[in-house]
Amino acid sequence: MSSDVAISVRDLNKIYGVGSKNEKVALNNISLQVKKGSIFGLLGPNGAGKSTFINILADLVRKTSGHIDIFGMSHHENLKDVKKLMGIVPQELNIDPFFTPYELLEIQAGLFGVPKNNRRTNEILELLALEDKSHAYARTLSGGMRRRLLIAKAMVHNPEILILDEPTAGVDVELRQNLWGNIRELNKLGITIVLTTHNLNEAQEMCSRIAIINKGNLVALDSTQKMLERIEGKIIKFKVKDSKNFEKIKLDGVKFTKSNGQITASYDKKKIKFDQIIDKVKNNVEILDISTDEGDLEDIFLQVTNK
Ligand code: ADP
Repeated sequence: MSSDVAISVRDLNKIYGVGSKNEKVALNNISLQVKKGSIFGLLGPNGAGKSTFINILADLVRKTSGHIDIFGMSHHENLKDVKKLMGIVPQELNIDPFFTPYELLEIQAGLFGVPKNNRRTNEILELLALEDKSHAYARTLSGGMRRRLLIAKAMVHNPEILILDEPTAGVDVELRQNLWGNIRELNKLGITIVLTTHNLNEAQEMCSRIAIINKGNLVALDSTQKMLERIEGKIIKFKVKDSKNFEKIKLDGVKFTKSNGQITASYDKKKIKFDQIIDKVKNNVEILDISTDEGDLEDIFLQVTNK
């Protein structure tokens, strides 16, 4: 069974500067599992503890307590083996400017002890749409290309799990979709993806499952679908010809408000149906236009982080 689970984390704690006056709890009893082959998002505002989490997995930060298993193997006891299973893509876009992508991948493969015969340098460059830039100086690469090169570097040892810290930081908005596409392609090859983000849209677009952390605490953990279903509130906006009959529009469980030429209904979608509200408004005023607002992860995020 454990092979279905790529990463299992139990009661993970990290306190920086234990005993000092700057003691800081960065992770507080985090438990979660990442399913093999999934795209898992670790979502939270700045300072939530996302990088700390990733850095512990990457063995760059030492946990204070807790257990981590990678494909059923203790992270702590099999550090060398588990590191081979993971590719870590750091947040910074620092790349040695005087090497080419080809050279950088070769150097990285050397560091991981990948024998020359087993290297897949060209294949990886192609996978990340960098084949045209194989022999260009890294300093000439755009933000999006640099990010892809960092992903390529993390792939040289053929990891089963790819961990990306804020993958779209420093990437132009137009190029984000491309990058998401690249990451999805890697996932289709069977690679488990874990990414951190403070961008709700990114998490919603990319991830099948999401953990939300805030100030070191796990505040929500669910499938993206379920997270979205959790949002109870929904809004309908009516553009109306005139709202002189506004006072007559009353329905249990719905809050109607009006402002210049518009009536807004906010309601709990579990309790009342869309049609009922439409009918009520239609019977009293002339509707010119209707728009709805589904609510998104932003709402969940506000709900769970404001507690
Ligand atoms: P995120 O990646 O979600 O922005 P971090 O993991 O970087 O959050 O930080 C979590 C908390 O731990 C923050 O309050 C941060 O200031 C603190 N922190 C991070 N690194 C260190 C460190 N090396 N020493 C002390 N505190 C740290």
